Amino acid sequence: MTADTVIDCGGIGKRYRRSWALRDCHLAVPAGRVVALVGPNGAGKTTLLGLAAGLTRPSEGAMTVLGDQLPGSPAALDRIGFVAQNAALYPGVPVRDLLRMGRYLNRRWDDARAHAHLEGLGIPLDRRYGRLSGGQQAQVSLALALAKRPELLLLDEPLAALDPLARHDFMAVLLTAVAEGGLSVVFSSHAVNELEQSCDHLVVLGGGRVQVAGEADDLVAGHRMLTGPTAGADEVAARLPVVRDRRAGAQSHLLVRTGGVDAPVSAGWRQQRVGLEELVLAYLREPTASALPGPRGAVRASVRTSEKAMLS
Ligand code: ATP
Repeated sequence: MTADTVIDCGGIGKRYRRSWALRDCHLAVPAGRVVALVGPNGAGKTTLLGLAAGLTRPSEGAMTVLGDQLPGSPAALDRIGFVAQNAALYPGVPVRDLLRMGRYLNRRWDDARAHAHLEGLGIPLDRRYGRLSGGQQAQVSLALALAKRPELLLLDEPLAALDPLARHDFMAVLLTAVAEGGLSVVFSSHAVNELEQSCDHLVVLGGGRVQVAGEADDLVAGHRMLTGPTAGADEVAARLPVVRDRRAGAQSHLLVRTGGVDAPVSAGWRQQRVGLEELVLAYLREPTASALPGPRGAVRASVRTSEKAMLS
């Protein structure tokens, strides 16, 4: 049976000696998505992916993957592919032999798919892995992970070393695999400017906590940039959930959560939609702001209440 969620965290924390890499993380990542995991250096992205892959265990709280599987359990290991950050496979081993190893080590191995993937990109199978370019190495890692026919693919900064063309090719392979069905992808990335084309669900981590989680379309639809005279900015900011408050002389720019409806704006103010990149950057700049899934109706209701207050 297909699971509704691929990662479920109930208040998990991960501590390394005395410092917490993750704390009080609640997350339900839906299945069938390409999920981008974003956050500044040290936010806990690698730690979260490692927990989901079963490489390490939470210090507190519970986590399940692919519905109700425990990370690291045989059933989960069978159904999850993981490509670590700077995944260095055996540099002296030819690609063909890496594929052979994969075939011996995995029960659900799709050899034809791996060959077609690499031959389609013109990657020489007789070349040693260490002699391939960074982009080719990333494609080999991806081909090996996909040949496992995973239901969940975890990728830690897969795009980091790739040029724009290689990034495009990498994402194209990934999106095609997801479109074929039965695969969910969670990848960490610093490429905030490429999120719009590469993900349909977003998780932003900040300081070891989940700061933003949701469908990319909902997040974009649920925010507005309000621009108006600084003289009235305090009044607007007091009535709406403000993510980022930027005052530039006589003009102020307030990024607000509106819950998918237009914000009530007073005279002299205008509102615009914002793109995913601008949205993510705003949250990264305001680590205490958050946009977590909740009763959408409640947000709408609070905006309507403030609308009434503004009109009265
Ligand atoms: P980056 O974007 O730089 O890769 P990240 O978001 O992936 O960062 P993590 O690697 O998960 O962040 O690290 C989160 C925090 O946990 C950091 O403060 C890091 O120093 C700490 N940390 C991670 N792994 C260990 C470890 N094995 N031992 C001690 N501290 C660790």
